[in-house]
Amino acid sequence: MSFNKLGALRFVEENDVKFVKLQFCDMFGHMKNISIPSKQLPKAFEEGIAFDASSIDGFGVIEDSELFLFPDPTTLCILPWRPQHARVARLFCDIKTGDGNPFLGDSRYILRRTFERAKNMGYIFNVGAECEFFLFKTDQEGKPTLNPSDRATYFDSAPMDQGENTRREICLTLEQMGFEIESSHHESAYGQHEIDFKYDNVIQSADNILSFKSVVKTIAGRNGLYASFMPKPLSLTSGSGMHINMSLFKDGENIFNTQIGNELPLVAKYFIAGILSHIKEICAVTNPIVNSYKRLSSEFEAPKHIAWSYKNRSCLIRVPYTTKGYNRIELRSPDSTCNPYLTLALILSAGLDGVEKKLELMPALTQNAYTLTEEELKHYTIDLLPQTLNEALHIMQGSEFVKSILGEHLFNNYLVSKTQEWNIYNQTIHDWEVRTYL
Ligand code: GLN
Ligand code: MG
Ligand code: MG
Ligand code: MG
Repeated sequence: MSFNKLGALRFVEENDVKFVKLQFCDMFGHMKNISIPSKQLPKAFEEGIAFDASSIDGFGVIEDSELFLFPDPTTLCILPWRPQHARVARLFCDIKTGDGNPFLGDSRYILRRTFERAKNMGYIFNVGAECEFFLFKTDQEGKPTLNPSDRATYFDSAPMDQGENTRREICLTLEQMGFEIESSHHESAYGQHEIDFKYDNVIQSADNILSFKSVVKTIAGRNGLYASFMPKPLSLTSGSGMHINMSLFKDGENIFNTQIGNELPLVAKYFIAGILSHIKEICAVTNPIVNSYKRLSSEFEAPKHIAWSYKNRSCLIRVPYTTKGYNRIELRSPDSTCNPYLTLALILSAGLDGVEKKLELMPALTQNAYTLTEEELKHYTIDLLPQTLNEALHIMQGSEFVKSILGEHLFNNYLVSKTQEWNIYNQTIHDWEVRTYL
């Protein structure tokens, strides 16, 4: 269901909704919210709901800190795990300043701006995300441990797979919220899982990623477990990625569609070339935390080589095979700790840049990238992703491309906060150092 303002107000009235959570996303992809009684919803639509931006990391300064949430009625949805009388609904919001202009630190606005640019070129960007996660046991106080909830591996079934009831509950909850679930399965590592839902346009998909994470965490908690999207919680086993499957539609048709036996169409090749050419610059956003780089440097089907391939899961971009031919491309580097709005805005812009400039695409790599020698890497001109957050931040800092998409406000604030994060990590003495050097 997709509502306009009047329809949303009527739905709230007729469905015993008594509270509405107004949700938005901070610079780092964390969902924030304020709850209002549903009686305040007409006011929220008309005047916005004020909040203190200086208390949200990277949003504002204390001298000029009033911002306003304007709920997007198309995102209305009841939260199925809350009481079913005097119900709770949520709405994603756009953020505006006091004079009614979009707030330039609002990542949903940045994505919408990019979406509109693509639309003006005749394209709708569709995205399907695969968010992997771990289920960990909790201790007597309910705190998370690093003990995976089972000892099952890829596609194992019950009773090895102890997560099926939790996954089932997550799927049912998501379906009640309008998600179309495509599949769910145990992933490679002990306690690791994946649930895939249908692609949608890029804005809806970014909203869905935030909703997905909150549902997974909520339902895991109800089952006495702790769900984590941390990219690499355990050494020597798989990490959790967020593969991004994408296609461009024009006049309602997927223009990445390819007849069996044919190569990808030129426009898809330009799009891939654009992403490959900008991936190092956008890596500090797609892989935003110190720990992200431990996943990327560990193999376990996570990419570090900037190359593409039709089947090969060791490459940054893979073109998944379907029984009807090719229909999408898959970027394998991002992880679920990213801000999905900024990540998708940058990926789309990078792809479009390739299309506009008709960038030539390197040949598809057929070998396993992990086993390539130095000489082979040179021969195929294959570069590597940044190895640390620090390296990624330095590359981003020099990128006019990223600055032009994010705008000065987000670009500068993001770099300042993330550099601080790196410095704190770098100044900390870690267990490994003490064990090895003391
Ligand atoms: N977990 C892997 C990653 O980190 C992906 C493995 C898979 O989906 N087959 O990206
Ligand atoms: Mg998958
Ligand atoms: Mg997977
Ligand atoms: Mg995948």
